[in-house]
Order: sequence, then structure tokens, then C-alpha cells
Amino acid sequence: MGGVSKDAAVAALERAVYLLDRGHEPGFRVQAFLRAAETVRATDAAELVERAAAGTLTDLEHVGDTTAAVITEALQGRTPSYLRALEERTRVPVTPEGAAVRALLRGDCHSHTRWSDGGASVEAMARAAAALGHEYLVITDHSPRLTVAHGLTRERLVRQLDEIDRLRPELAPFRLLTGIEVDILEDGSLDADPDILERLDLVVASVHSKLRMDPQRMTERMVLAVASPHVDVLGHCTGRLIGKRPASSFDPDYVFAACARFGTAVEINCRPERRDPPDELVQIALSHGCEFVISTDAHAPGQLEWQPYGCDIAARNRVPPDRIVNTRSAADLTAWTATK
Ligand SMILES: [Zn+2]
Ligand SMILES: [Zn+2]
Repeated sequence: MGGVSKDAAVAALERAVYLLDRGHEPGFRVQAFLRAAETVRATDAAELVERAAAGTLTDLEHVGDTTAAVITEALQGRTPSYLRALEERTRVPVTPEGAAVRALLRGDCHSHTRWSDGGASVEAMARAAAALGHEYLVITDHSPRLTVAHGLTRERLVRQLDEIDRLRPELAPFRLLTGIEVDILEDGSLDADPDILERLDLVVASVHSKLRMDPQRMTERMVLAVASPHVDVLGHCTGRLIGKRPASSFDPDYVFAACARFGTAVEINCRPERRDPPDELVQIALSHGCEFVISTDAHAPGQLEWQPYGCDIAARNRVPPDRIVNTRSAADLTAWTATK
């Protein structure tokens, strides 16, 4: 009995972590729940029940008033009221038109793990994607030059590929796909060796540095990158962070014409602070005949629920579903990336 209720307490704290990430709430709050979950896991079930009754859970390390209340209610077999409120507060909004697009998506093509700057393991991300009904998830951690994000050296990426190989049979029929978010360097070259890019199922290329470079050079830089036979997706093309960092300047006609010509899809990045590209650029990309991919760029399992933000962008710009590559099956997606 004690064991069962302890499991319920751990599950409640883990659900809170998931929802806080879904709600894009501050990292310190997520950390508080992660640490409390660790403490509960390490504490004897009988002691937890005793302390809950005596009101002394907060004497345990990393358990505060909020986490103690969650633990107490979970131990009593109830859904914690904090959790119920959080389920409501963090629900991802979507228009009916966006929901129709979301219903067509079969996977997510941009996600990060603890290998670079994400908060969860490859397995945790994959299981969360599967729980959302996805058929596949592409793991796209950062390339080495992005040191602030703990970008993967060649050697670490090869180790990650081994881990993905090991996980695949356990996760089947769900498909875990390999990938990278490779930095587009200042001269338009890519921050990874061609042979390694060749091995991956999908390559997202993004600008993360020198975002204020003059428009002419930024255009050349991006055109060169999307023309690479290894690049499948142009990630968050303007680099804007809404309210924090302006969009970088480039000539969208050249860049999107190149995307269309070289078969590189334009990412609609769903992160609430990015929502990139903005509508006017989606229109230009559409007019050039580009394909799109609606990706969360999730850094935690709960963020995999962010696709509706991008679906709303696609819906209000009337992007035809057959031009959204992640409406396709994993087999069709990998066939598409392989022919590049
Ligand atoms: Zn990025
Ligand atoms: Zn990313």
C-alpha cells in the first residue's frame, strides 16, 4: 500500500514537471519539483506517510510547502489541487483551424535532449512523443560550435547514435530518428563533417551567431546553407525572440527560392517565444513553392505539446497540408530526406 502511494507521489511530481515545461514556466520552479521527486524516491514509503500525517514533509531536503501539499494529496490517493490547476493553466491554446492541421501531424522533427541543452534523456523525449500519438521523433541536438548549448562533438554525436540504436527496438513501432541542429557558420558552411551529416536521418540547419550581420551577407550565408545536399530543413529562419531580439535581415526571395530549388523545407518553429517565421515570410515562402515542417524545438518532454502554435501559423496562412513534410509517415519522411 505504502509503495503504491509513494509511486503516486512521484508520478504527481513528475506530472508537475511536465506541465510546468508545457507552460514554459521558470526553470527554478521545474527544478523544485525535480528535486522533490528525487527526495521522495529516496525516502521510505512508511516515513512519507507518517510525515504527511504529522505535517513534517517540509523537514525533508528539497521539499517546500507546495511540493509537500502535492505529495500529501497524492499519498491520500487524490489528484493534487495544484496539479489540477496546472493542467488548466498550461493547456496549449489552439484555434479550430490550427487543431485541424495538428490532427494531420505524425511526428516532430526538431528536439533537444540532455546531450546538448535539453532537460531530459533521449528515452524520456521519445516516450513523451509516443504518448502524444506521434509516430516518430527526430532528435536534433546542437553542433559543437554552439558551446553555450553544450553542442555535440563528432565523438559525442557518434555515442548518441549508439544510444538511439539501442533504444529503437524497445520503442518500436514508434520510430526514433537521428538528426542534428547544425549551426550555419558565418560563411554559410556547416558546423559538422559531411560524412556524419550523411549518416543522419534529418538535418536542421540554423543560424545562432552573428544574427545582426548585414542583409546581403546574411542572404548569401543562408542560401549557401540551404543549397547544401545535406540540409533538409532551415530552422527558425529569422532568429527572432519575440519581445527580446529582433528578426535578422535577409532577402527572403533569394533564401526561399533557394529552399524551393534545393528541396530544403522551411521550419515553422513552434516555440512560443520564436513562432518563426512571421506570417509575411510564410507567405513569401509559399509563393516560391517551399515545403514546410512544423516543429516544436522542444527542450523538455512537456514542450513537445507546442505544435499547435505552429499549426495556427500554418492554418492562418493556408499552407496546404501536402506541403507540410511532417504530415507524412516516417518512411515517407526518411525517403524524402534521403533523396536530397
Ligand atoms: Zn536553434
Ligand atoms: Zn533547436
